[in-house]
Amino acid sequence: MSTERYTLKVGDLDAEIVLKPIRNLHIGVYPPDGRVRVAAPASMTRAAVQGALALRLVWIRHRIMEFQRQQRETPREYRAGESHWHMGRRYRLRAVGHGRSNAVATRGHYIEVTVRGSPSSRKVASAIEQWRRVDLAERAKPIIAYWAHRLGTDVPDVGIKRMSTRWGTCSIQSKRVWLNLALSRLPPSCLNYVSLHEVAHLLVPNHSADFLALLDAHMPDWRAAKAMLSELPYSHSGTV
Ligand SMILES: [Zn+2]
Repeated sequence: MSTERYTLKVGDLDAEIVLKPIRNLHIGVYPPDGRVRVAAPASMTRAAVQGALALRLVWIRHRIMEFQRQQRETPREYRAGESHWHMGRRYRLRAVGHGRSNAVATRGHYIEVTVRGSPSSRKVASAIEQWRRVDLAERAKPIIAYWAHRLGTDVPDVGIKRMSTRWGTCSIQSKRVWLNLALSRLPPSCLNYVSLHEVAHLLVPNHSADFLALLDAHMPDWRAAKAMLSELPYSHSGTV
């Protein structure tokens, strides 16, 4: 069995190509830093491989970005200078004490937290969690209402909670959508996709072809958001 290897530039990425006696091209993106390795049929030309990679470039970039994020996924200690993610952007924590009440706001590259008394990690963590819950609910409600109108169904109630195995759930009986608090940290496109997904379940309870057709009709690029979410931990405890 003969193999041949070469390196291709795809955008700003280097991909290692290995020609093999196989029928289909396979693209792998590997941790920890997102090395791209491609197994290609021996008969495939460089130009054809290049074209196939160009078509998957968005997907490849998502994979690399999520590996980078997962690497940073370590429990937060809520100390000054620590990074925290909010709406897909990275902020540094700045905590001050002796405020009249708890207050959290983003300012430039900082999440600024004011707490009553001394700014202990526990107090800062709880102030940030409360802020995330309120902020995520406020952002999610108009999005959920928008999708409910678009899909022609009643606007459900929206609840935020920690979840360890899902990004969202919905209850058709009680007309309520639950969103994972961890969505607070992710880009708005993720919240948008999960919102549509759960609202669509009010019409189609399973993931049948009808359900996928609904997603395709209303959000043609939903698979990009889904691919990003599938690479991320559901947990709220890390930096993501
Ligand atoms: Zn679902």
